[in-house]
Amino acid sequence: MTKTIALVAHDARKDALVEWVGRHINRLDGVDIVATGTTGGKILQTHESLRIVTVKSGPLGGDQQIGAMIADGKLDGLVFFVDPLSPMPHDVDIKALMRLAAVYDLPLATSPSTADAILDYLL
Ligand code: PGA
Repeated sequence: MTKTIALVAHDARKDALVEWVGRHINRLDGVDIVATGTTGGKILQTHESLRIVTVKSGPLGGDQQIGAMIADGKLDGLVFFVDPLSPMPHDVDIKALMRLAAVYDLPLATSPSTADAILDYLL
């Protein structure tokens, strides 16, 4: 069955996520991807062939939309490259998203190396 993963990156980490996607482009071609608005748009600029459904931008509710998908059992993994060095106005949404990943035991990666591990686990 086709896996569905969510991709989210804070601004300072978006280039790292685009680079990570590029490294795994062949495997990700067979995956359904959901992304927050700006993250998804940025990935598609470089990797046009990917199937990416975007939700709203994270601070405008996108993190919560992805959280709802976790609660509904619609995701197999979450790759969430957080910026550990900047305060975020939507910190509560970030915490809520990570909390739901823990509640539902959803594989969650916050960095390239852990995202590598999640792909190996899922595919
Ligand atoms: P963005 O949202 O992809 O719309 O920038 C990411 C986030 O900050 O949660």
